[in-house]
Parts: sequence; C-alpha cells; structure tokens
Amino acid sequence: MKVVLGIESTAHTFGVGIASLDGSILIDYSDQFLPKSGGIHPREASEHHSKVASKIIAKAFNTILDKELNVVAIGFSRGPGLGPCLRIGATIARAISSYLQIPLFGIHHGIAHIEIGKKLTGVSDPLVLLVSGGHTMITALENRKYRVFGETLDISIGNLIDMFMRSAGYPSPAGHLCEKLASRATGLVELPYVVKGTDMSFSGILTAARKYLEKGVPIEVICKSLQEFAFAMLSEVTERALAHTKKKELLVVGGVAANKRLKEMLSYVVSEHDAKLYVPSKWNGDNGAMIAWTTALFYLHGEPISIEESYVIPLWRIDEVEIPWS
Ligand code: AMP
Ligand code: MG
Repeated sequence: MKVVLGIESTAHTFGVGIASLDGSILIDYSDQFLPKSGGIHPREASEHHSKVASKIIAKAFNTILDKELNVVAIGFSRGPGLGPCLRIGATIARAISSYLQIPLFGIHHGIAHIEIGKKLTGVSDPLVLLVSGGHTMITALENRKYRVFGETLDISIGNLIDMFMRSAGYPSPAGHLCEKLASRATGLVELPYVVKGTDMSFSGILTAARKYLEKGVPIEVICKSLQEFAFAMLSEVTERALAHTKKKELLVVGGVAANKRLKEMLSYVVSEHDAKLYVPSKWNGDNGAMIAWTTALFYLHGEPISIEESYVIPLWRIDEVEIPWS
C-alpha cells in the first residue's frame, strides 16, 4: 500500500503519523514535552524532541516493514512554531527523504489541523475556527487560499488559559482543569471584552484575571469569567464571518475545541444562521497524523520542495500558502 509519513514538532509534541493516500491513518505515535514549571522553553522542548525522535521513528519504520508499506513521500511541520523544535522535525524529514529518495513536503501546521478536521467530520466547505496553543483565527478557503476573517492581535486563546492557570500554580496545559473549575462557579467578574473589527485581543483579560487572583477572588469564578468573556469574543467574530460568507458548516479545530462551554456558545451561533457545527472527535491536539494526511494531499495535488529550500518558517502565515486541491 502507498503511504506517506508526517512529522510534527512545532512546539510541545514530537509526533509521527502514517496516512494512506485516501486518508486512512495507519499510525499516530507521539511524545509530549511537559515543562516542570513555566511555559514551553524552545530549547528544552527541542532537546526533548531529539531525545524521543529515534525511538518513535524506529517504531514507525517497524510498522512500515511489518505491514510492507510503500512510503512514497514525507512531510514535516514547517511552521508556524518554535524554531529549535521545527528544526528537529525538518532535519529528520530531510534525512529520510534523501535516504529513501522520496519527495519532501513542508506542511503548514494550521492547515494540517484544518485538513484532518475536514477529513474526520466529512465537511466540504466550512468556515473554520482554529483555537489552540499556537493559533486563534477564523478562516475559510476562498480563491485557493485560507483567508483570515479574524484573528488574535496578541496571545492565543490557549495561551490565555494556560498562562492564567500557571499564575494560579497549575502546570500547562491546563485547559481541561480551567473548564472543570469554571463549571463549579456561581458568580461572574467583569473582564475586558476586546473585539477590534474582526480581530480580538486577549492580553487584557489575562492581566485583569491575574489581578482578581491577587485580590483573592475564587479561582472557579475567574475561570468561569475568563471562559465566558473570551468565548463570547470568539463567538461574536465567528458569527460575523458566518453572516458574511454564508457558509453552512462551522468546523472547530485545535486543542481548545474540546471545551464544552465553547461548543455550547457556538451551537447557538450556528443555529441562528442555519448552519451546522462540526468538532472532530480526535486529533484536535498536535499530532503526526494530521501532518501525514496533509502531506498526502500535497503529494497528490502539489509540488515537493528541494532540501535546499526546506528551511523552517517559524512565523508562517496561513494565507501565504496556495492550496492546490481547492
Ligand atoms: P494544541 O495547541 O492544539 O495542542 O492545543 C493545546 C491547548 O488547548 C492548550 O492551551 C490547552 O490548555 C487547551 N485545551 C485543551 N483542552 C481544553 C479544554 N477542555 N478547554 C479549554 N482549553 C483546552
Ligand atoms: Mg497546534
């Protein structure tokens, strides 16, 4: 069977996936760097990746040999992400591409989140809300590119949650815990609600939430307020984009898509616009499977890159990438 290999290494996760050309995921192996304290330090995360990579790659190649798979292409997360982490995945992908004499593809991490979500939910032409540790944007495919309708002007929604939770002493990622604490709260406190045009700013919420913490406001109340304000901002911008594009499918991808309160608010938004909400049941966090599947799409419809031009792009914007299958 013809398959492609995908390597993810943008931030905390080193992952390897194998996908068939029609999008069956055959393997998805990964190992996550969990900082003992603070956020993700790029050098520490890259050291983690280089430590675990050989074991994970070997496991993937054992499967390739066992199942007699024919690897026809390899792709890696080229950006956006942390430079030292991206370079680990890129270096391994270049080596495998040269050794096996197979084409090399540099994959945009955000597009991979979206394409695996589309594959899993079966949507065809969605408006996409991408909410993760690295991204917060509302985007849709128009004229061969993912156009950005709205995005964060500063930190991502995942960062807002994780940074606030770290101030309260909880290690990252802590989105699940924030959701759990929020569900126990009764009251709400006022936080900045900052939507500028169709863009959002979350850093004011972080500062205000930290001040409430210092004043002794219960963490449950702050978690709930943070969710209510930040998710209402996301819902407002999503609704405007739905009204503008008249799309009938809203796809939510990225780690924060797991949040029940966010899904509840978005369900209300789509119901007002005769649209439907789709949230993939798996592969929402960073993983190699999404890179493998997106590599398969580029292998079938696009052009590979040479080793010489395969440098990583830590600040790669989603709307710079031409989508050849659209
Ligand atoms: P990703 O960057 O796509 O791997 O997503 C990771 C981000 O998703 C982290 O910031 C997590 O804290 C966040 N996250 C995971 N589960 C939840 C949840 N239930 N509610 C809110 N955020 C979450
Ligand atoms: Mg991600």
